[in-house]
Amino acid sequence: MRTTSRCRAAARMIAAIGVFSLVAACAGNGGTTGGGATSGGYPDQNITFVVPFSAGGPTDTVTRMLAEPMAAKLGGKVVVQNVEGAGGTVGAGEVARADPDGYTVLMHHIGMSTAPALYQNLGYKPLEDFEMVGLVTEVPMTVVARKDFAPATLKDLVTHVKANADKVTLANAGIGAASHLCGLLFQSAAGVKLQEVPYEGTGPALTDLVGGQVDFMCDQTTNTSGQISAGEVKAYAVTTPERVKSLPDVPTTAEAGLPQLQVSVWHGLYVPKGTPQEVVQKLSEALKTALADQKVIDQMAKLGTAPVTAENATPQAHRAKLEEQLGTWAKVIADAGVKAS
Ligand code: ASP
Repeated sequence: MRTTSRCRAAARMIAAIGVFSLVAACAGNGGTTGGGATSGGYPDQNITFVVPFSAGGPTDTVTRMLAEPMAAKLGGKVVVQNVEGAGGTVGAGEVARADPDGYTVLMHHIGMSTAPALYQNLGYKPLEDFEMVGLVTEVPMTVVARKDFAPATLKDLVTHVKANADKVTLANAGIGAASHLCGLLFQSAAGVKLQEVPYEGTGPALTDLVGGQVDFMCDQTTNTSGQISAGEVKAYAVTTPERVKSLPDVPTTAEAGLPQLQVSVWHGLYVPKGTPQEVVQKLSEALKTALADQKVIDQMAKLGTAPVTAENATPQAHRAKLEEQLGTWAKVIADAGVKAS
């Protein structure tokens, strides 16, 4: 994404994007805002954080939490842009092909490690086409349903979907999304194949769940906590070994009788391969600073998660995690026999 096209895109999307510390985007100077202290010349123009899912969903929420403290540390401006589609692979592909100058940054999650096993022509290679900046957070998922859905517990849900496999609808954010992966694990644990309803993010999927248009789904606590606490959706379980502090009444999948359903959604920041190491380091330092910000820690805690440690907010730890996860999910997905068409 070159500066001029970034500016045109920013102008088009001004109503749909969040701008953090933005003073004068693209003001007749090739996109340079001219604001903020810079060291080594970076940043001297807006940095775009690409979210590969819809606005208002969990990946978007975490990105917007970090945008402001990272912009402050970098001494620059951060614009959040949602580039949705195909389970996060459209946005990831766009960043893989962007100029490697540190001005296009991707926030992605576990989907970075599942997509290669699901898509035959992904168009990017996670380990080869990106520089890793650092891990961000690891978020539990919840299994949630519309509030008037008949099953009362996770065990009832399994019984119900088995008896009504042709009627029950399972929402997700497209093939390769965390919700898709969790849905696969659920179906495999329950021994059933359901009708899946793909969205461009679980923000809109949750809206439809609350509205009763779909029956159930898995999603991060960063999206579902508010609706669970408000009783707008029914929560069956959290997908982690321990209960989530902010949702003390929701049992774990193991407690609820489905111990095979375990997944937590790790997030990381990426820039295109070839981005100067000095820039990657600056982004990583800014990430560490943002993750240590008490406001971020408190916001995350309210939504059932926490920042990773400073050692994990590094390119090295991020690369190691991605390598390990690519291997883990390739096997699970091959065993499940799933492919994107
Ligand atoms: N939670 C979504 C997923 O299933 C992504 C999102 O909308 O942020 O991957």
